[in-house]
Amino acid sequence: MRIGYGWDSHAFKPGVPLKIGGIAFDHPTGLAGHSDGDVLLHAITDALLGAVAVGDIGSFFPPGDPRWKDADSAVFLQTALEEIQHAGYRIANLDTTLVLAAPKIGPFAEKLRERVAELLQIDPGCVGIKAKTPEGLNQDGVAVAHAVVLLEKLDDGDGLERMAAIAEPQQQMDDVVRKLVGRASPKPTRKPAFNTDDIT
Ligand code: MG
Repeated sequence: MRIGYGWDSHAFKPGVPLKIGGIAFDHPTGLAGHSDGDVLLHAITDALLGAVAVGDIGSFFPPGDPRWKDADSAVFLQTALEEIQHAGYRIANLDTTLVLAAPKIGPFAEKLRERVAELLQIDPGCVGIKAKTPEGLNQDGVAVAHAVVLLEKLDDGDGLERMAAIAEPQQQMDDVVRKLVGRASPKPTRKPAFNTDDIT
């Protein structure tokens, strides 16, 4: 198993749409940022990347890169998810804490849980969403998010399922190409991650 931790903060700014956890909130201020400023998805993305020690959100999506201007942070999360899957892990569970003065998160916690679970392709029961107000911190103009994630290694059975999942679309593609041009796809089949010569 592996553990990952992520943290992020963004300042509230008038005239910016507020997006937290992939959900749009009706609120007079939003979170300023190069992307959509989704503080919660950024913290979760960093937790996932950190768990497999492949860098952080800034190394994958540099803030100076115009491609990520106003980007949907779900794209960042998807990339992090692919990184952990590529490393041979899946999410066991995730826990998060938001720290912000407003809006109140409580009434939206269930919706957030379902949306984050949907983005991560896991059960909502594996996603913790908690929120605190920043009492005594003098940071009402800022939203902070903390995220911790536990990953578990895919076992051999899962590995075979993954290989089958890769092989099946390739076979379907071959069938389509064969119908169209009367021969098999010239694209080579993806090789398994290990050297089959080593199997005795
Ligand atoms: Mg951020």
